[in-house]
Amino acid sequence: MRLRNVTGSEKIIAASPYVVQEPKEMKNKWKELFGISNPIYIEIGMGKGQFITTMAKNNPNINFIGIEKYSSVLLRAIQKVEAEEIPNLRFLCIDAKEIVDFFGKEEIDKIYLNFSDPWPKDRHAKRRLPSKEFLERYDQILKTEGNLEFKTDNRDLFDFAVEQIPETKWKIDQITYDLHHNNEMNKGNVMTEYEQKFSSIGNPIHKYIISR
Ligand code: SAM
Repeated sequence: MRLRNVTGSEKIIAASPYVVQEPKEMKNKWKELFGISNPIYIEIGMGKGQFITTMAKNNPNINFIGIEKYSSVLLRAIQKVEAEEIPNLRFLCIDAKEIVDFFGKEEIDKIYLNFSDPWPKDRHAKRRLPSKEFLERYDQILKTEGNLEFKTDNRDLFDFAVEQIPETKWKIDQITYDLHHNNEMNKGNVMTEYEQKFSSIGNPIHKYIISR
């Protein structure tokens, strides 16, 4: 997802209390930023932020960080929350490829990947957020007992993600190829923008939960 360049977007992002302006300086200090020692959950590739914003409102005792690569997309997330006060929510405008420069060892309690870009060409496989290269990065920042939840309607991307697991130290704890008809895994499910769009046209949603 990439939106047109929005005039003045950089200024709005620089002035937003939701956006962490010098995120590299926060490495190993995220708890200080929130001022409270609650668990930290991150969504990588949050898009316009519907999922992470709803999760933050529903779970005030967890701190949430939404990560988005493109400022034009991040701007949409900021605009949605600017009139609200959600103290346990922050946004970062970074490329997740560099995530280990922003978070320290064991600093994160849970990682969400929702409807990640599929990068269908084989030569771009390393750019896929559930690839083994990215799982290796997540391994460096996630608590030992933490886990990662991934959902998508894209069967090719999901199959790829599942096939990556034996090549890593991760294992699949739960899996479904039809989340919305799986009572156990769908309990408390918060829909993302893409999930609403694609499930409304009948696409089944695939999901796994993995840990090490
Ligand atoms: N998670 C949202 C949802 O489910 O509605 C948005 C899904 S959208 C297809 C994927 C988003 O991930 C895009 O906004 C894209 O810019 C972002 N993204 C892709 N690669 C990224 C990366 N390496 N780092 C940070 N964000 C990334």
